Amino acid sequence: MPASPRLTVIGTGYLGATHAICMAVLGFEVLGVDVDTDKIEKLSSGEVPFFEPGLPELLTKALESGRLRFTTSFAEAGAFGDVHFVCVGTPQRADSEAADLTYVDAAVTSLAPHLDRRTLVVGKSTVPVGTAARLAALLRSLAPAGDEVELAWNPEFLREGFAVDDTMRPDRLVFGVTSEWAEQRLRAAFQPVLAQDVPVKVTDLQTAELVKVAANSFLATKISYINAMAEVCEATGADVHDLAEALAYDERIGGRFLRPGLGFGGGCLPKDIRAFAHRAEELGVGQAVGFLREIDGINRRRRARTVDLVVELCDGDVAGKRIAALGAAFKPNSDDIRDAPALDVAATLHRMGADVVVFDPAAMENARRVHPELAYATSALDAARDADVVVLLTEWNEFRDIEPAAMAAVVRRAKIVDGRHALVPAHWRAAGWEYRALGRPSLH
Ligand code: NAD
Repeated sequence: MPASPRLTVIGTGYLGATHAICMAVLGFEVLGVDVDTDKIEKLSSGEVPFFEPGLPELLTKALESGRLRFTTSFAEAGAFGDVHFVCVGTPQRADSEAADLTYVDAAVTSLAPHLDRRTLVVGKSTVPVGTAARLAALLRSLAPAGDEVELAWNPEFLREGFAVDDTMRPDRLVFGVTSEWAEQRLRAAFQPVLAQDVPVKVTDLQTAELVKVAANSFLATKISYINAMAEVCEATGADVHDLAEALAYDERIGGRFLRPGLGFGGGCLPKDIRAFAHRAEELGVGQAVGFLREIDGINRRRRARTVDLVVELCDGDVAGKRIAALGAAFKPNSDDIRDAPALDVAATLHRMGADVVVFDPAAMENARRVHPELAYATSALDAARDADVVVLLTEWNEFRDIEPAAMAAVVRRAKIVDGRHALVPAHWRAAGWEYRALGRPSLH
Protein backbone atom coordinates (compact mmCIF):
# COMPACT_ATOMS: atom_id res chain seq x y z
CA MET A 1 0.00 0.00 0.00
CA PRO A 2 1.50 3.39 -0.99
CA ALA A 3 2.06 5.89 1.83
CA SER A 4 -0.16 8.43 0.10
CA PRO A 5 -3.35 6.66 -0.95
CA ARG A 6 -4.77 7.11 -4.44
CA LEU A 7 -8.25 8.55 -4.14
CA THR A 8 -11.39 8.19 -6.21
CA VAL A 9 -14.36 10.52 -5.74
CA ILE A 10 -17.62 8.98 -6.88
CA GLY A 11 -20.22 11.61 -7.75
CA THR A 12 -18.71 14.87 -8.99
CA GLY A 13 -21.46 17.38 -8.14
CA TYR A 14 -21.10 20.36 -5.77
CA LEU A 15 -19.51 18.21 -3.07
CA GLY A 16 -17.61 15.61 -5.10
CA ALA A 17 -16.05 17.93 -7.69
CA THR A 18 -14.86 20.25 -4.94
CA HIS A 19 -13.43 17.35 -2.93
CA ALA A 20 -11.69 15.81 -5.97
CA ILE A 21 -10.18 19.12 -7.12
CA CYS A 22 -9.00 20.19 -3.64
CA MET A 23 -7.49 16.78 -2.85
CA ALA A 24 -5.52 16.86 -6.14
CA VAL A 25 -4.30 20.39 -5.35
CA LEU A 26 -3.22 19.11 -1.92
CA GLY A 27 -1.00 16.53 -3.66
CA PHE A 28 -3.06 13.34 -4.03
CA GLU A 29 -3.57 11.34 -7.23
CA VAL A 30 -7.32 11.61 -7.76
CA LEU A 31 -9.83 10.04 -10.15
CA GLY A 32 -13.31 11.63 -10.29
CA VAL A 33 -16.14 9.28 -11.29
CA ASP A 34 -19.68 10.16 -12.37
CA VAL A 35 -22.47 8.59 -14.43
CA ASP A 36 -23.15 11.98 -16.04
CA THR A 37 -20.95 11.98 -19.17
CA ASP A 38 -21.61 15.66 -19.82
CA LYS A 39 -20.30 16.59 -16.37
CA ILE A 40 -17.24 14.36 -16.79
CA GLU A 41 -16.46 15.93 -20.19
CA LYS A 42 -16.77 19.44 -18.79
CA LEU A 43 -14.57 18.73 -15.76
CA SER A 44 -11.98 16.94 -17.94
CA SER A 45 -11.76 19.96 -20.20
CA GLY A 46 -11.28 22.33 -17.26
CA GLU A 47 -14.84 23.61 -16.86
CA VAL A 48 -16.53 23.53 -13.43
CA PRO A 49 -20.21 22.79 -14.23
CA PHE A 50 -21.49 25.00 -11.41
CA PHE A 51 -20.67 28.35 -9.79
CA GLU A 52 -18.21 28.14 -6.90
CA PRO A 53 -15.75 30.97 -6.20
CA GLY A 54 -12.11 29.92 -6.62
CA LEU A 55 -12.86 26.42 -7.90
CA PRO A 56 -12.26 26.98 -11.67
CA GLU A 57 -8.72 28.22 -10.99
CA LEU A 58 -8.00 25.20 -8.79
CA LEU A 59 -9.40 22.82 -11.43
CA THR A 60 -7.00 24.25 -14.01
CA LYS A 61 -4.12 23.88 -11.55
CA ALA A 62 -5.09 20.30 -10.65
CA LEU A 63 -5.45 19.22 -14.30
CA GLU A 64 -2.12 20.82 -15.18
CA SER A 65 -0.44 18.94 -12.34
CA GLY A 66 -1.49 15.67 -13.98
CA ARG A 67 -2.81 14.42 -10.64
CA LEU A 68 -6.52 14.78 -11.48
CA ARG A 69 -8.50 12.82 -14.07
CA PHE A 70 -12.16 12.01 -14.58
CA THR A 71 -13.94 8.92 -15.85
CA THR A 72 -17.31 7.21 -16.10
CA SER A 73 -15.73 3.77 -15.64
CA PHE A 74 -16.14 1.99 -12.29
CA ALA A 75 -13.66 -0.67 -13.45
CA GLU A 76 -11.05 2.06 -13.82
CA ALA A 77 -12.02 3.44 -10.41
CA GLY A 78 -11.67 0.03 -8.74
CA ALA A 79 -8.26 -0.58 -10.29
CA PHE A 80 -7.01 2.92 -9.43
CA GLY A 81 -8.23 3.74 -5.94
CA ASP A 82 -7.00 2.85 -2.46
CA VAL A 83 -9.65 5.03 -0.83
CA HIS A 84 -12.98 5.67 -2.57
CA PHE A 85 -15.11 8.65 -1.47
CA VAL A 86 -18.84 8.33 -2.19
CA CYS A 87 -20.27 11.81 -2.82
CA VAL A 88 -23.47 11.11 -4.78
CA GLY A 89 -26.76 12.90 -4.13
CA THR A 90 -29.32 11.89 -1.48
CA PRO A 91 -32.34 14.05 -2.41
CA GLN A 92 -35.77 13.83 -0.84
CA ARG A 93 -37.88 11.00 -2.27
CA ALA A 94 -40.72 12.10 -4.53
CA ASP A 95 -43.30 10.07 -2.57
CA SER A 96 -42.27 10.84 1.04
CA GLU A 97 -40.04 12.93 3.26
CA ALA A 98 -37.43 10.16 3.42
CA ALA A 99 -34.02 10.39 1.74
CA ASP A 100 -33.75 8.74 -1.66
CA LEU A 101 -30.84 6.30 -1.31
CA THR A 102 -31.04 5.02 -4.91
CA TYR A 103 -27.87 6.86 -5.97
CA VAL A 104 -25.81 5.80 -2.96
CA ASP A 105 -26.87 2.18 -3.42
CA ALA A 106 -26.16 2.33 -7.16
CA ALA A 107 -22.69 3.84 -6.63
CA VAL A 108 -21.73 1.14 -4.11
CA THR A 109 -23.22 -1.64 -6.24
CA SER A 110 -21.33 -0.42 -9.33
CA LEU A 111 -18.01 -0.08 -7.51
CA ALA A 112 -18.01 -3.23 -5.37
CA PRO A 113 -17.44 -5.84 -8.14
CA HIS A 114 -14.17 -4.04 -8.98
CA LEU A 115 -12.74 -4.15 -5.46
CA ASP A 116 -10.34 -7.11 -5.44
CA ARG A 117 -7.84 -5.96 -2.80
CA ARG A 118 -7.84 -4.34 0.62
CA THR A 119 -9.70 -1.06 0.11
CA LEU A 120 -11.50 1.62 2.09
CA VAL A 121 -14.81 3.03 0.86
CA VAL A 122 -15.74 6.31 2.58
CA GLY A 123 -19.25 7.71 2.54
CA LYS A 124 -19.46 11.50 2.49
CA SER A 125 -23.07 11.90 1.36
CA THR A 126 -25.65 12.87 3.99
CA VAL A 127 -27.62 9.72 4.84
CA PRO A 128 -30.15 8.47 7.38
CA VAL A 129 -28.50 6.84 10.39
CA GLY A 130 -28.08 3.11 9.79
CA THR A 131 -27.26 3.46 6.08
CA ALA A 132 -23.52 2.95 6.57
CA ALA A 133 -23.92 -0.38 8.37
CA ARG A 134 -26.21 -1.61 5.57
CA LEU A 135 -23.77 -0.45 2.87
CA ALA A 136 -20.84 -2.10 4.66
CA ALA A 137 -22.63 -5.46 4.47
CA LEU A 138 -23.57 -4.84 0.83
CA LEU A 139 -19.94 -4.08 -0.05
CA ARG A 140 -18.63 -7.19 1.69
CA SER A 141 -21.17 -9.37 -0.12
CA LEU A 142 -20.49 -7.91 -3.60
CA ALA A 143 -16.72 -7.26 -3.58
CA PRO A 144 -14.34 -10.03 -4.70
CA ALA A 145 -12.09 -9.00 -1.78
CA GLY A 146 -14.98 -9.61 0.66
CA ASP A 147 -14.10 -8.68 4.24
CA GLU A 148 -10.96 -6.88 3.03
CA VAL A 149 -13.22 -4.05 1.87
CA GLU A 150 -14.14 -1.72 4.74
CA LEU A 151 -16.55 1.16 4.94
CA ALA A 152 -16.07 4.39 6.87
CA TRP A 153 -18.25 7.50 7.16
CA ASN A 154 -16.84 11.01 6.85
CA PRO A 155 -19.77 13.44 6.74
CA GLU A 156 -19.23 16.66 4.85
CA PHE A 157 -19.96 20.12 6.23
CA LEU A 158 -18.85 22.36 3.35
CA ARG A 159 -20.92 25.41 2.50
CA GLU A 160 -21.57 26.30 -1.12
CA GLY A 161 -19.94 29.66 -1.76
CA PHE A 162 -17.13 28.80 0.68
CA ALA A 163 -16.59 25.24 -0.53
CA VAL A 164 -12.87 25.57 -1.29
CA ASP A 165 -11.93 27.02 2.10
CA ASP A 166 -14.23 24.61 3.91
CA THR A 167 -12.55 21.66 2.14
CA MET A 168 -8.98 22.87 2.50
CA ARG A 169 -9.43 23.89 6.13
CA PRO A 170 -12.63 22.51 7.64
CA ASP A 171 -13.75 23.38 11.18
CA ARG A 172 -13.47 19.69 12.00
CA LEU A 173 -13.28 16.26 10.45
CA VAL A 174 -15.46 13.40 11.62
CA PHE A 175 -14.27 9.84 10.98
CA GLY A 176 -16.81 7.10 11.57
CA VAL A 177 -14.83 3.84 11.51
CA THR A 178 -14.99 0.23 12.62
CA SER A 179 -11.24 -0.51 12.75
CA GLU A 180 -7.88 1.02 13.54
CA TRP A 181 -6.84 0.32 9.92
CA ALA A 182 -9.74 2.39 8.55
CA GLU A 183 -8.86 5.28 10.87
CA GLN A 184 -5.23 5.22 9.73
CA ARG A 185 -6.27 5.10 6.05
CA LEU A 186 -8.53 8.11 6.59
CA ARG A 187 -5.76 9.97 8.41
CA ALA A 188 -3.50 9.30 5.41
CA ALA A 189 -6.22 10.46 3.00
CA PHE A 190 -6.52 13.77 4.91
CA GLN A 191 -2.86 14.15 5.94
CA PRO A 192 -2.33 17.69 4.49
CA VAL A 193 -5.60 18.87 6.08
CA LEU A 194 -4.81 17.33 9.45
CA ALA A 195 -1.33 18.87 9.31
CA GLN A 196 -3.04 22.26 9.80
CA ASP A 197 -4.25 21.16 13.23
CA VAL A 198 -7.82 20.64 12.10
CA PRO A 199 -9.63 18.84 14.93
CA VAL A 200 -10.71 15.29 14.15
CA LYS A 201 -13.38 13.33 15.96
CA VAL A 202 -13.06 9.59 15.55
CA THR A 203 -16.23 7.70 16.34
CA ASP A 204 -18.49 4.86 15.18
CA LEU A 205 -20.44 4.80 11.94
CA GLN A 206 -23.84 5.73 13.35
CA THR A 207 -22.53 8.69 15.37
CA ALA A 208 -20.71 10.01 12.29
CA GLU A 209 -23.91 9.79 10.23
CA LEU A 210 -25.84 11.54 12.99
CA VAL A 211 -23.36 14.41 13.46
CA LYS A 212 -24.25 15.75 10.03
CA VAL A 213 -28.02 15.74 10.42
CA ALA A 214 -27.74 16.98 14.00
CA ALA A 215 -25.63 19.94 12.80
CA ASN A 216 -28.04 20.79 10.00
CA SER A 217 -31.02 20.46 12.33
CA PHE A 218 -29.42 22.88 14.78
CA LEU A 219 -28.69 25.44 12.06
CA ALA A 220 -32.22 25.14 10.64
CA THR A 221 -33.63 25.56 14.15
CA LYS A 222 -31.63 28.74 14.72
CA ILE A 223 -32.91 30.25 11.47
CA SER A 224 -36.51 29.27 12.11
CA TYR A 225 -36.26 30.43 15.71
CA ILE A 226 -35.51 34.01 14.71
CA ASN A 227 -38.13 33.82 11.96
CA ALA A 228 -40.69 32.66 14.54
CA MET A 229 -39.73 35.76 16.55
CA ALA A 230 -40.28 37.78 13.36
CA GLU A 231 -43.85 36.46 13.17
CA VAL A 232 -44.46 37.64 16.72
CA CYS A 233 -42.85 41.00 15.92
CA GLU A 234 -45.19 41.39 12.95
CA ALA A 235 -48.19 40.94 15.25
CA THR A 236 -46.92 43.53 17.73
CA GLY A 237 -45.13 46.17 15.70
CA ALA A 238 -41.79 45.17 17.26
CA ASP A 239 -38.59 45.11 15.17
CA VAL A 240 -37.04 41.66 14.74
CA HIS A 241 -33.86 43.15 13.34
CA ASP A 242 -33.18 45.01 16.60
CA LEU A 243 -34.32 41.97 18.56
CA ALA A 244 -31.80 39.72 16.75
CA GLU A 245 -28.98 42.21 17.26
CA ALA A 246 -29.74 42.46 20.96
CA LEU A 247 -29.86 38.65 21.30
CA ALA A 248 -26.57 38.27 19.46
CA TYR A 249 -24.64 40.20 22.13
CA ASP A 250 -25.28 37.24 24.41
CA GLU A 251 -22.30 34.99 23.76
CA ARG A 252 -24.34 31.94 24.70
CA ILE A 253 -26.64 32.69 21.77
CA GLY A 254 -24.35 34.31 19.18
CA GLY A 255 -25.36 36.17 16.06
CA ARG A 256 -24.60 33.66 13.32
CA PHE A 257 -27.60 32.08 11.61
CA LEU A 258 -29.77 34.48 13.60
CA ARG A 259 -30.72 36.61 10.60
CA PRO A 260 -34.44 36.95 10.06
CA GLY A 261 -35.77 36.82 6.52
CA LEU A 262 -37.02 34.49 3.85
CA GLY A 263 -35.60 31.38 5.51
CA PHE A 264 -33.47 28.49 4.37
CA GLY A 265 -33.53 26.43 1.18
CA GLY A 266 -31.05 24.59 -1.02
CA GLY A 267 -30.12 21.00 -1.59
CA CYS A 268 -29.34 20.26 2.08
CA LEU A 269 -31.15 21.81 5.07
CA PRO A 270 -34.81 21.30 4.00
CA LYS A 271 -34.42 17.71 2.82
CA ASP A 272 -32.03 16.79 5.64
CA ILE A 273 -34.36 17.84 8.46
CA ARG A 274 -37.29 16.08 6.79
CA ALA A 275 -35.29 12.89 6.27
CA PHE A 276 -34.09 13.05 9.89
CA ALA A 277 -37.63 13.42 11.26
CA HIS A 278 -38.73 10.53 9.03
CA ARG A 279 -35.84 8.30 10.11
CA ALA A 280 -36.44 9.08 13.79
CA GLU A 281 -40.05 7.95 13.37
CA GLU A 282 -38.87 4.69 11.79
CA LEU A 283 -36.60 4.18 14.81
CA GLY A 284 -39.48 4.83 17.23
CA VAL A 285 -38.03 8.13 18.49
CA GLY A 286 -40.06 10.45 16.27
CA GLN A 287 -41.17 12.48 19.29
CA ALA A 288 -37.58 13.43 20.09
CA VAL A 289 -37.19 15.42 16.89
CA GLY A 290 -40.85 16.13 16.13
CA PHE A 291 -39.99 19.83 16.55
CA LEU A 292 -38.19 19.66 13.20
CA ARG A 293 -41.55 19.58 11.43
CA GLU A 294 -42.38 22.84 13.20
CA ILE A 295 -39.01 24.25 12.09
CA ASP A 296 -39.89 23.25 8.51
CA GLY A 297 -43.37 24.78 8.86
CA ILE A 298 -42.02 28.13 10.14
CA ASN A 299 -39.57 28.13 7.24
CA ARG A 300 -42.24 27.46 4.61
CA ARG A 301 -44.44 30.23 6.06
CA ARG A 302 -41.71 32.80 5.35
CA ARG A 303 -42.13 32.26 1.64
CA ALA A 304 -45.91 32.64 1.88
CA ARG A 305 -45.60 35.75 4.06
CA THR A 306 -43.15 37.35 1.61
CA VAL A 307 -45.67 36.78 -1.18
CA ASP A 308 -48.36 38.33 1.07
CA LEU A 309 -46.22 41.42 1.57
CA VAL A 310 -45.77 41.89 -2.17
CA VAL A 311 -49.52 41.48 -2.64
CA GLU A 312 -50.13 44.07 0.08
CA LEU A 313 -47.83 46.55 -1.68
CA CYS A 314 -49.81 45.90 -4.88
CA ASP A 315 -52.99 46.98 -3.06
CA GLY A 316 -54.25 43.44 -2.67
CA ASP A 317 -53.87 42.08 -6.20
CA VAL A 318 -50.71 41.27 -8.14
CA ALA A 319 -52.48 40.31 -11.38
CA GLY A 320 -50.98 42.34 -14.21
CA LYS A 321 -48.47 44.00 -11.88
CA ARG A 322 -44.81 43.98 -12.76
CA ILE A 323 -42.59 42.50 -10.04
CA ALA A 324 -38.79 42.65 -10.12
CA ALA A 325 -37.40 39.58 -8.35
CA LEU A 326 -33.78 40.15 -7.31
CA GLY A 327 -32.21 36.74 -6.79
CA ALA A 328 -32.91 33.16 -7.79
CA ALA A 329 -30.16 31.10 -6.11
CA PHE A 330 -30.96 29.68 -2.66
CA LYS A 331 -28.15 31.83 -1.28
CA PRO A 332 -25.54 34.29 -2.55
CA ASN A 333 -22.29 33.10 -4.14
CA SER A 334 -24.01 30.02 -5.52
CA ASP A 335 -25.94 29.09 -8.66
CA ASP A 336 -27.78 26.33 -6.79
CA ILE A 337 -31.56 26.67 -7.13
CA ARG A 338 -32.57 23.45 -5.37
CA ASP A 339 -35.54 24.32 -3.14
CA ALA A 340 -34.64 28.00 -3.55
CA PRO A 341 -36.97 30.29 -1.56
CA ALA A 342 -36.36 33.04 -4.14
CA LEU A 343 -37.70 31.04 -7.07
CA ASP A 344 -40.53 29.69 -4.97
CA VAL A 345 -41.69 33.26 -4.28
CA ALA A 346 -41.17 34.36 -7.90
CA ALA A 347 -43.07 31.36 -9.31
CA THR A 348 -45.93 31.83 -6.84
CA LEU A 349 -46.33 35.49 -7.81
CA HIS A 350 -46.30 34.46 -11.47
CA ARG A 351 -49.06 31.90 -10.82
CA MET A 352 -51.07 34.70 -9.19
CA GLY A 353 -50.95 36.61 -12.46
CA ALA A 354 -48.00 38.94 -11.86
CA ASP A 355 -45.51 39.76 -14.58
CA VAL A 356 -42.35 38.60 -12.79
CA VAL A 357 -38.89 39.56 -14.06
CA VAL A 358 -35.96 37.77 -12.40
CA PHE A 359 -32.30 38.67 -12.18
CA ASP A 360 -29.58 36.68 -10.42
CA PRO A 361 -25.81 37.19 -10.86
CA ALA A 362 -25.07 33.43 -11.21
CA ALA A 363 -28.19 31.28 -11.33
CA MET A 364 -29.92 32.54 -14.50
CA GLU A 365 -29.24 29.44 -16.59
CA ASN A 366 -30.45 27.05 -13.88
CA ALA A 367 -33.50 29.21 -13.12
CA ARG A 368 -34.48 29.48 -16.79
CA ARG A 369 -34.26 25.71 -17.21
CA VAL A 370 -36.59 24.98 -14.28
CA HIS A 371 -38.85 28.06 -14.60
CA PRO A 372 -39.12 28.89 -18.29
CA GLU A 373 -42.43 30.64 -17.55
CA LEU A 374 -40.66 33.53 -15.78
CA ALA A 375 -39.07 36.49 -17.57
CA TYR A 376 -35.35 37.15 -17.10
CA ALA A 377 -33.41 40.42 -17.14
CA THR A 378 -29.76 41.21 -17.74
CA SER A 379 -29.17 43.22 -14.56
CA ALA A 380 -30.92 44.31 -11.37
CA LEU A 381 -31.75 47.69 -12.92
CA ASP A 382 -33.04 46.00 -16.06
CA ALA A 383 -35.31 43.78 -13.92
CA ALA A 384 -36.60 46.83 -12.04
CA ARG A 385 -37.62 48.74 -15.17
CA ASP A 386 -41.29 49.76 -14.80
CA ALA A 387 -41.70 47.52 -11.73
CA ASP A 388 -44.62 48.06 -9.37
CA VAL A 389 -42.72 46.27 -6.60
CA VAL A 390 -39.08 45.21 -6.28
CA VAL A 391 -38.51 42.19 -4.04
CA LEU A 392 -35.03 41.23 -2.86
CA LEU A 393 -34.91 37.45 -2.50
CA THR A 394 -31.19 36.47 -2.40
CA GLU A 395 -28.72 38.68 -0.54
CA TRP A 396 -25.99 39.01 -3.18
CA ASN A 397 -23.53 41.81 -2.34
CA GLU A 398 -24.27 43.50 -5.65
CA PHE A 399 -27.88 43.96 -4.51
CA ARG A 400 -26.73 45.50 -1.22
CA ASP A 401 -24.70 47.94 -3.32
CA ILE A 402 -27.64 49.11 -5.45
CA GLU A 403 -28.02 52.88 -5.42
CA PRO A 404 -31.62 53.47 -4.25
CA ALA A 405 -31.97 56.68 -6.28
CA ALA A 406 -30.76 54.99 -9.47
CA MET A 407 -33.30 52.22 -9.08
CA ALA A 408 -36.05 54.68 -8.14
CA ALA A 409 -35.47 56.35 -11.51
CA VAL A 410 -36.43 53.23 -13.51
CA VAL A 411 -39.35 51.71 -11.53
CA ARG A 412 -43.03 52.58 -11.95
CA ARG A 413 -43.59 52.74 -8.18
CA ALA A 414 -40.80 52.91 -5.60
CA LYS A 415 -41.83 50.04 -3.36
CA ILE A 416 -39.38 47.41 -2.14
CA VAL A 417 -39.74 44.23 -0.09
CA ASP A 418 -36.40 43.32 1.48
CA GLY A 419 -36.93 39.58 1.84
CA ARG A 420 -33.44 39.09 3.28
CA HIS A 421 -33.07 42.13 5.59
CA ALA A 422 -30.02 42.95 3.47
CA LEU A 423 -30.59 46.64 2.81
CA VAL A 424 -30.33 49.73 5.01
CA PRO A 425 -33.96 50.91 5.29
CA ALA A 426 -33.01 54.55 5.99
CA HIS A 427 -31.10 54.79 2.67
CA TRP A 428 -34.05 53.50 0.71
CA ARG A 429 -36.62 55.58 2.53
CA ALA A 430 -34.44 58.68 2.06
CA ALA A 431 -34.55 58.05 -1.70
CA GLY A 432 -38.33 57.97 -1.62
CA TRP A 433 -38.90 54.23 -1.40
CA GLU A 434 -41.58 52.49 0.60
CA TYR A 435 -39.33 49.90 2.30
CA ARG A 436 -40.88 46.81 3.87
CA ALA A 437 -39.33 43.75 5.53
CA LEU A 438 -41.04 40.97 7.44
CA GLY A 439 -40.92 41.55 11.18
CA ARG A 440 -39.96 45.21 10.89
CA PRO A 441 -42.42 48.00 11.48
CA SER A 442 -43.78 49.75 8.45
CA LEU A 443 -43.13 53.48 8.58
CA HIS A 444 -45.76 54.26 5.96
P1 NAD B 1 -25.14 16.92 -6.69
O1 NAD B 1 -26.48 16.57 -7.17
O2 NAD B 1 -24.53 18.24 -7.06
O3 NAD B 1 -24.09 15.81 -7.12
C1 NAD B 1 -24.34 14.45 -7.09
C2 NAD B 1 -23.56 13.80 -8.24
O4 NAD B 1 -23.65 12.39 -8.13
C3 NAD B 1 -24.10 14.16 -9.61
O5 NAD B 1 -23.05 14.66 -10.43
C4 NAD B 1 -24.63 12.83 -10.15
O6 NAD B 1 -24.53 12.71 -11.57
C5 NAD B 1 -23.73 11.86 -9.43
N1 NAD B 1 -24.25 10.48 -9.38
C6 NAD B 1 -25.54 10.07 -9.20
N2 NAD B 1 -25.60 8.73 -9.22
C7 NAD B 1 -24.32 8.28 -9.38
C8 NAD B 1 -23.74 7.00 -9.45
N3 NAD B 1 -24.48 5.89 -9.33
N4 NAD B 1 -22.42 6.89 -9.64
C9 NAD B 1 -21.66 8.02 -9.77
N5 NAD B 1 -22.15 9.27 -9.70
C10 NAD B 1 -23.47 9.39 -9.50
O7 NAD B 1 -25.21 16.80 -5.09
P2 NAD B 1 -24.27 17.50 -3.98
O8 NAD B 1 -24.83 18.83 -3.62
O9 NAD B 1 -22.85 17.40 -4.40
O10 NAD B 1 -24.55 16.56 -2.73
C11 NAD B 1 -24.02 15.25 -2.65
C12 NAD B 1 -24.20 14.74 -1.22
O11 NAD B 1 -23.44 15.56 -0.34
C13 NAD B 1 -25.64 14.81 -0.71
O12 NAD B 1 -25.85 13.72 0.15
C14 NAD B 1 -25.67 16.11 0.07
O13 NAD B 1 -26.66 16.11 1.05
C15 NAD B 1 -24.28 16.10 0.67
N6 NAD B 1 -23.74 17.43 0.98
C16 NAD B 1 -23.83 18.44 0.08
C17 NAD B 1 -23.33 19.69 0.42
C18 NAD B 1 -23.47 20.86 -0.52
O14 NAD B 1 -23.20 21.99 -0.08
N7 NAD B 1 -23.88 20.68 -1.76
C19 NAD B 1 -22.70 19.88 1.67
C20 NAD B 1 -22.58 18.81 2.53
C21 NAD B 1 -23.11 17.59 2.19
